[in-house]
Amino acid sequence: MAFESDFIWMEGKIIPFKDAKLHFLTSSLHYGTAVFEGIRSYQTESGPAVFRLKDHIKRLEDSAAILGVAGLPYSNDELYDACLELIRVNKMEECYIRPLVYIKEGGWNLSTTNVTIDVGIAVWKWTNYLGEKALLNGIRANVATYPRHHPNIMMTKGKIAGNYVNSVLAKSESLRGGFDEAIMLDPYGNVSECTGENIFLVRKGVIYTTPKNGILEGFTRDTILTVARDKGYEVKEEVISRDQLYIADEVFVTGTAAEVIALSEIDYRKIGTGKTGPVCAELQQAYSDVIHGKNPKYYDWLDYVYQDEMEANKAV
Ligand code: PMP
Repeated sequence: MAFESDFIWMEGKIIPFKDAKLHFLTSSLHYGTAVFEGIRSYQTESGPAVFRLKDHIKRLEDSAAILGVAGLPYSNDELYDACLELIRVNKMEECYIRPLVYIKEGGWNLSTTNVTIDVGIAVWKWTNYLGEKALLNGIRANVATYPRHHPNIMMTKGKIAGNYVNSVLAKSESLRGGFDEAIMLDPYGNVSECTGENIFLVRKGVIYTTPKNGILEGFTRDTILTVARDKGYEVKEEVISRDQLYIADEVFVTGTAAEVIALSEIDYRKIGTGKTGPVCAELQQAYSDVIHGKNPKYYDWLDYVYQDEMEANKAV
């Protein structure tokens, strides 16, 4: 199994992978009432480091609050420590970290009142999400026939398991149609985001991305906005129409899994040169430097897996 590791952190304990089981009658499995995170650890000169771990744990807490199951049985600090500890016991370096908050008891009356919630965390060795070639050549996308959620229907700020059925429908349609990724429009027909990424375009040297309402506020999006502004780019968060994508010089997507990847083609129309454009390439390199601890300006976004050992070594 590609996701196999030695241990899983579950309900406060580190247990063998094979023992991390939930009962068939777990209401979250039936109604999609769980919330999760997708986090990554990268190799750096000082050993593996997790990118924006505190932000991800906070978003997990926020997602739970949005779903209405606030009051996790562990503090954010405990969950933060649990993620780092789990990477250490599994002896992982570049890996994906998946915390999931689920309803352990209750929830059968389609409500989140009087439920008991708990948390599990898995880590697995990371392999490239969209393929090595995607970095240079970009990927092909289509506009999905499925619109993105209206924020008052599914709460797009929450990384809620049930929300992802919308992504699964769009991505499956896309893959069956021979594309690599789906762009989703919001219920008003404007560009929203992709199935697991936020979206950007570049026109005449200006970088645009869609506004925060109606999308998941991605940390890769925020990182790229910050880095691009720091590099002196003009960056705008504004409503984007489908045809603005078609005539853009470059379009690219951002996400923890995908990182920064150009869209070479949208709905059978070549975008720019049909390869990764210069702005996207510059931001790909900048992002790679940040996550691998090569840019001191953004060191605060990295949490080292062996930070205690690093501190101890400093002391002697
Ligand atoms: N939008 C959606 C729907 C996502 O699932 C993700 C992945 N978490 C993103 C955007 C990008 O978010 P991030 O950069 O924090 O991974």
